[in-house]
Amino acid sequence: MVNRDSAFFWEGTQKGELRIQTCNACGVLRHPPGPACPSCGVLDRGYVVASGHGTVFSYVVHRHPPVPGKELPIVIALIDLDEGLRMVGEVRDVAADGADPIAIGTRLRVDFDRIDDELTLPVWRRAEESG
Ligand SMILES: [Zn+2]
Repeated sequence: MVNRDSAFFWEGTQKGELRIQTCNACGVLRHPPGPACPSCGVLDRGYVVASGHGTVFSYVVHRHPPVPGKELPIVIALIDLDEGLRMVGEVRDVAADGADPIAIGTRLRVDFDRIDDELTLPVWRRAEESG
């Protein structure tokens, strides 16, 4: 999961930042990270820090197979980031056992779950309703 292409992402989560890879040549944002820009092929890349807000595009309730360190079921969503990319993430604080744990279109905000000194995972929670 952590490799040279994605190291910046995991360094970001440790600092409480959701980082998205960007191409320094054409400016396209991309996720998941990769070595070369899918748009222009250039290897020169950087990142931007995402707002951490997004919307549920779709989700699944994961019941099986077991996931190390997780109590199942968990809700895994495909999230439309406000920056225009999609990212897969676990949604916390929803009733994964319920019939409809979360609705398509629900607004989410990112949070960070520190697993150990090496790994902090981005997780998602319902955004507070506010003007
Ligand atoms: Zn590019």
